[in-house]
Amino acid sequence: MANVMLSRVQQRQAQRRVRSHASHLPGGTLLRGCADAVTPARVVMANPACDLDGRQPCEHALVDGGLNKALYDYEAVLQARFDSVEQTLQAVARLPRDETFPAQAQQLTRARLGFELPAEMLKRSWIEGLDMAALYAHCLFEAVRVSAKQAPQEQDDWLHGMVIDDEFIAECGYHTLDITPCADGRLQGLLPFVLRIAPTSESVLLKAYAGALFDIDLDLSDWTQRELAQRLSARLGARYLKMAVYHYSSSAPSKEGCAAHGSDEGAARSAAITRLEQLRYGVAHAFGAGLGPDILVLGLDTDLDAIRVHLPDAQGEPSEAVAVEAAQIYRETLGMPVAQARAHIMQSVDRAAASVGSSASAGLKRLVTQLIEANLSQIEYVIQHHEGRYAHLGHGERFICVGDSIDELQMRNLYYFAHLDTLEEGAACVDVGLNIFEKLNLSRGFPVPIMVHFHYASVIPGARERAAERCKRVMRGIQARYAGRVPDGALKFALCVSDVTGAESLCLIGEYCVRSVRQEGYDA
Ligand SMILES: [Zn+2]
Ligand SMILES: [Zn+2]
Repeated sequence: MANVMLSRVQQRQAQRRVRSHASHLPGGTLLRGCADAVTPARVVMANPACDLDGRQPCEHALVDGGLNKALYDYEAVLQARFDSVEQTLQAVARLPRDETFPAQAQQLTRARLGFELPAEMLKRSWIEGLDMAALYAHCLFEAVRVSAKQAPQEQDDWLHGMVIDDEFIAECGYHTLDITPCADGRLQGLLPFVLRIAPTSESVLLKAYAGALFDIDLDLSDWTQRELAQRLSARLGARYLKMAVYHYSSSAPSKEGCAAHGSDEGAARSAAITRLEQLRYGVAHAFGAGLGPDILVLGLDTDLDAIRVHLPDAQGEPSEAVAVEAAQIYRETLGMPVAQARAHIMQSVDRAAASVGSSASAGLKRLVTQLIEANLSQIEYVIQHHEGRYAHLGHGERFICVGDSIDELQMRNLYYFAHLDTLEEGAACVDVGLNIFEKLNLSRGFPVPIMVHFHYASVIPGARERAAERCKRVMRGIQARYAGRVPDGALKFALCVSDVTGAESLCLIGEYCVRSVRQEGYDA
C-alpha cells in the first residue's frame, strides 16, 4: 500500500544531501587501476560510453567515486551473504547424521550465516531425512531479514550520498515520484544504483510490475491519496510524477530483454507508454483536465545499467520519439570539467525537449538532467566493477517477493519483485516470475522461495492483523493457482509485515514449507 503518513524511514532520512562534486582522484584507467583483477578478454562488445582499452581513462568528472565505492562494498556484502547460503547448506548436508547432528548443524549455520535452522526440522531429520529445499528457502528468508535489520548500518555509507532525495524532488516541483520498473530482478537496484535515488525517500513510491504494466486503478488511488494529503495540508503547486521504466539488453536483444514482452524492446516501450496514457486519461476524466500526473518514460539497458529518458510531448503525453541517452552523454562529456559537462547535459535535455515542443516544466527538465548525471556514475560503476558489461546478463534472482517493496534490500538480480495488493490483480506478474523460476530453480531441483510482504500502519487499529491476513490470503491464492503446475512442496513461503509508522520491519508472521496444497507448515 502506498502510505502518506509519517514513517519509520524518516528516522533514517538523509540529513542534508552531500553535494559531492567530481572526484579528483589521481588518474589511471580502469584497466591500470586494477590490473591484476582484470580479464579484458571478456568485454567483447564495445562499450557505448567509453573505450575501455582506449587512451583516455574512463573517469568522468561528474562521477562520484566515493559513492561508487560505498555502493560496491554494499553489493559485495549482500553478494557474500546470499552466496554463502548454498555453500553452508552443502556443508550441513555432509555432516554425519548421528545424535550430534542437530547441534553441529546449528553451530555451523550460526558461524557461517549468523542465524539458526528451524530446530523442529533438524530433530525430525532422522526419520524424515533432511528437507534441504525447505532449509534453503529458510536460509534465504533469514538472509533477507538480516539484510533488512542491518540496512541502517550497511546502507549508511551511500544513503546520504544519494543526490535525488525528498528535498531535491520537492525542488523540482514534485510531491511524489511514483516509479514503476519491471518486476525483473535486474531492475531491483534501480533506485540507489542506476538512478541514485534515496530508496528511503518519503516522496518515492516503488511499485514493480512484470513488463512495467502497472495497475491503473491502484495508481489512481495512490494519486488520490497523495493529492489529498497535499491539499489537506494546504500545499498547492507541487505535482505528482509517474515514471515507467522499460528495459532491454544491448548484448542479447532478442534473448535477455523483457520476458513479459518477449524480449521485444519496442513492445516493452509502447506498453509502458500506453499505460501512462491511460493513467493520465483516467485522472483527467475522473478529476479534471490538466491535473496530471506528469509522466516520464525511462529505458534501461540492463547489461550496462545505462538509461535513456523519453521526454513528454507538447501535450504532456508520453512519447517515444525523443530520448536522451546517458551512455552517449558520458562519451560526449568525458574529459570535460564539471561545469562544462553539466552545461552540456542541460543543453542536450533542452534540445531534446525543444525538438518536440515538450511541455516539460523547468523542474522536470532539472530532474531529467540530474537523472542523467546520476546515471553517469552508475555507467562508470559498471565499467569499474563489472568490466563495462555485467558478466551475468540474464536472470539470476534468488527469490520472489510479492506485495510491497523491501526498501532495505537494493541489489541487481537479487530478487524478482511484483507489487500487488491481491493475487487476483497481480497474477500476471506472479506468472512471469514463476516462469523465470521454473528455469532458474525448478529445473535444478531447487525450490521457489516466495516472500509475501505487506506494509501496514500501526497507528491504524487492527492494521497489522489485516496485513497478516492478507499475506496468508495471497499465499493460499498462489498455492491454489500453481497446484499441479509445480512439483508438490516446491513453493516455499515466508510471510512478513513491516510497519510504516513504527519500527517493525520485515517481521516474520510465519514460514510455510507446504508439501501439498493442504495447509500444513511450521511457524518459525
Ligand atoms: Zn500496495
Ligand atoms: Zn521486464
